[in-house]
Amino acid sequence: MSTNEEKKKMSQTDEDQFVTESSVIDCFLPHKFETFLSENFSGEAKYFKNLHYEFAKKLMSKIPLGYMSLDSGYPWFCYWITNILEMTKDKYDLSYDTKLKFVEILKELQHPDGGFCGMPKGYAHLISTYSGMMAIANLGIKEAYDIVDIKKMKEFLLRMKNNHFNINDKPSYTDKNGIFLIYRNEENKNENEENNNKENIKEESNTNKEKNHSSLTNCSSTHACFPGTFQNHINGESDLRSTYCALTVSYILNLLPDESLTSGIVSNIQSCQTFEGGFGPEPYCEAHGGYSFCAIASLILLNSLNSIDIKSFIRWLTLRQMSKEGGFNGRTNKLVDSCYSYWQGSIFNMLIMGDKDLSYDSELLYDQLSLQAYILFACQKDKGGLIDKPGKGPDLFHTNYATAGLILSEKTLMDGVSVALSCDIEKQFGEFNPVFGILDENVKNAVKYYREKINE
Ligand SMILES: [Zn+2]
Repeated sequence: MSTNEEKKKMSQTDEDQFVTESSVIDCFLPHKFETFLSENFSGEAKYFKNLHYEFAKKLMSKIPLGYMSLDSGYPWFCYWITNILEMTKDKYDLSYDTKLKFVEILKELQHPDGGFCGMPKGYAHLISTYSGMMAIANLGIKEAYDIVDIKKMKEFLLRMKNNHFNINDKPSYTDKNGIFLIYRNEENKNENEENNNKENIKEESNTNKEKNHSSLTNCSSTHACFPGTFQNHINGESDLRSTYCALTVSYILNLLPDESLTSGIVSNIQSCQTFEGGFGPEPYCEAHGGYSFCAIASLILLNSLNSIDIKSFIRWLTLRQMSKEGGFNGRTNKLVDSCYSYWQGSIFNMLIMGDKDLSYDSELLYDQLSLQAYILFACQKDKGGLIDKPGKGPDLFHTNYATAGLILSEKTLMDGVSVALSCDIEKQFGEFNPVFGILDENVKNAVKYYREKINE
């Protein structure tokens, strides 16, 4: 059967996979690289450090119209740009005056009641707060650190926390795992309380099960939240992203340990682990790379990695590396994408942070060199910037996360062993923190600054 005939019989998913695989293999051919046989590779591999630096620097002065849909993502631009510049900085550094320009933008984004907004005069949002906080840590100057009103930030974080012990609402539904749902929306709450009064939840009829399930779906979206989670903003959605953002910001500001911020988080994360082994955004959802990153990073911060089914998680995680492309996908049956080099790749580094035995002969539990080949041969643009996959254009998001994944793929955190496709890329980066997504020294400096400030 000819290739064309084979293609005709494929589903759209299979065809997309076939096209992507072929385009990546085409990128490997000139380098004579074959995935998972990387020990045979003797060619050259280069990371175009200066070009990627210039790419980010150019976007610092003018963001193209294509980014318009991210209009409420001001803190993200500050984070991505400062982060790319920090990762690629050895010959360059941001001037003090340029850093002050970022400080002015970030000042405008802090909400008067605490937390950061996506755009000036918006509402405070946990995800904007994470990116604003990491941009501040990257700037690393007093003027940037001092932007944060720590007291109001803590009040904001506590306002976002869903904690049924502190709310007068009674849990209106308990599922078989003992997960409570709290209804913020009066209409849903009353409707559900009525259901509960009629009969014991454990003996509910099939009809009622359906009714409760439909309420659950409804509440998952905006109106109610699982205890141990955070809403992203007032009346906003709650999922593992907001948990991760709240914890990283709390850690940097030295607000941990604090039971009022962390109670219920571990059991909520446990309930998000799916039958596949990975984590969904909330219970009963599909396992996904980004949410799995948030789950494991949060567990590392709470020193609770052993609270999940680690074997099934590792099985799911290792299956995310694509056999021909070398990069990761984010979900079962999805295409390779360079940003998962960080979302998935960093988890292997975190697993070692949590348990030294989760490595193989001092290497991470995936083929590091094949991931590096995907990033270096298939995702770099000659004019600077990195892409999701061949055929796509470069952007800040993928330049940031593919570079972060590349750095972490070289480091095992075990005995200082470095694993690199070519000596050209070996040791050209600083230590990168897999949990926070910024250079390790920037995490440490920020934590130290705020510790001293709190103790003043
Ligand atoms: Zn992506």
